[in-house]
Order: sequence, then structure tokens, then C-alpha cells
Amino acid sequence: MYFPGTQTEVSYPHGVTAEAASVIAVSELEHGRFAILTDRTPFHPIDPRWPDQGPDQGIIVAEGLPFEVLDCVIGATDGADLFIGKDIPVRRGTAGWVFVVAHILDEPLVVGSSVDMVCDAERRHGLSAGHTACHVAALALNRVLTPRWNKEIPVDGLGSPDFDQEALDTSRIGINSAVDVYRLGKSLRKKGFNADDLYPELLTLAAEANDLLASWVEAAAPVTLEIEGPGVTDKRMWVCELPQGTQRIPCGGTHLGSLGQYEKIEISFSYDEPIGKLTMRTAATVLVA
Ligand SMILES: [Zn+2]
Repeated sequence: MYFPGTQTEVSYPHGVTAEAASVIAVSELEHGRFAILTDRTPFHPIDPRWPDQGPDQGIIVAEGLPFEVLDCVIGATDGADLFIGKDIPVRRGTAGWVFVVAHILDEPLVVGSSVDMVCDAERRHGLSAGHTACHVAALALNRVLTPRWNKEIPVDGLGSPDFDQEALDTSRIGINSAVDVYRLGKSLRKKGFNADDLYPELLTLAAEANDLLASWVEAAAPVTLEIEGPGVTDKRMWVCELPQGTQRIPCGGTHLGSLGQYEKIEISFSYDEPIGKLTMRTAATVLVA
């Protein structure tokens, strides 16, 4: 089997959930599973390098028969072999390698055949709502933590010290929700963050952040993805124009087009003080169209 020399074209950044495609390679995996590569896909893959937004679910329809997509993962190939997820041995941009979207099925499909790729659009919408809310919540968090910085650090697009950038450990996007874990350790203190007496202040900070989030939802702030190219690893920037400024960060996920699509976005905190682990849970309610 020869694998493709060009990366998979992806349509999910444009909000697409269904698309016709051609099967260009099939690779047998362990446990009776197969990786299906297509020339293009609407399926958002999980990226083990930063697994914030999980894979889309859905089906691939081949010759009228639906095949369930069991998983969808970033892969990479040097033309001779295909590596999937954590097994990818090279960084993006390595000469001679291309990155692809691997759709994991328990049946092989015929190379060269035309298929219809159909994602679960409701799940996608929930993940997009969770992802947009996650990035906006981080901006509210940065803003309410501003008084706790006593040294200059890089600021976000709204001019707030970028706590999220400095302290984020893991981020997981759920349906209309997200969970972000921050590390408040020695290195953050050295950078000038004062974590003293944070615990008793958390309810107040959450209330302040939620007031900000409510004002941004009220303002129906527009959200766009700036897309440099059609390939899965082409750079994409998440841009949100808020009243206090415009945030622009690299993001490989999917999003809603406006904060006006929410009824509300709210955060809450839990704090494990002895190990310095601050967890922010974001919950969004989306307006019914
Ligand atoms: Zn993102």
C-alpha cells in the first residue's frame, strides 16, 4: 500500500458536517480495525499532541451501506507506512512526511471508491459550542485574575495578563462545556502570580467572570476562524471581537460563529490548594435556533 503524498483537505473548520469524498488509502490496524484515508473530510480528528476537542462521530456511506466511524485520529505517513495518533514519530513540517485524517472503521473500504462522509451534526454543534465557550471563558479568567499579577507578563488580545497561556495544563472540550486545569506552582509564582488566599476569593472571581461573560453574550461578539489553507495541518486562527479587544489564537477545533448563539456561558472553580491545581468548568446554554 502506498500512502498519499498530500495532506487531507478538511472542511470542518468551515462548519461542514457532510461531504462526498474518495477513498485514497486503507491500512489494516490491530484488533480487526482499518484506517481509512480520504482525499477530503468533514470529520474533526483528535490530535494526541493537544487532545482538547475529541473526534467527530458519524458514518461513511459506501455503495449505499453505512459504516460507523469508530474513531477519528490525526495520522502521518512517509508514503510507505502510516502512523496514527501517539505513534507518529515526527513533528509537523518534517520533510517527506504528510499529515492525514485517519477514520477508524471495523471494515475496509475499496480504494478509489466514492463515499459520503456524514458527521453527527448535533454532537459537532455541542462540541463547537463548548470550544468557543472555553476560549471566551479563558479571557474572562485572565481579566478577573489581573490584580494578582505583580510582574509584567505577555497579555491576551484584551490586554489582560495571559494567565491561561502561562498556567494551562490540560483542556477538555465537552458538549456545550469545557474543563480547564491550571497549575499554580512555583514557576507561576516566580513569573509574578500571587496565589495567596485564592480559595476564599474564588466565588467572587467566578461571579465577576460570569458578569463579563454575560456582557459578551449580550454583545453577540462575532467569532471567526482565519483559515490559511485547506490541509489538516494548515494554520487556523480563532478570532473573537469583544468590546474590550480582539483575541487571536491558533486553534485546530470547530466553533460557533457568534456569542449571540448562546443564552449564557458560566464558569465555576474548584481548587486543590495543596497541589496548586485550579479547575475551571465552563457550562454553556445554547439558544435553540
Ligand atoms: Zn481551540
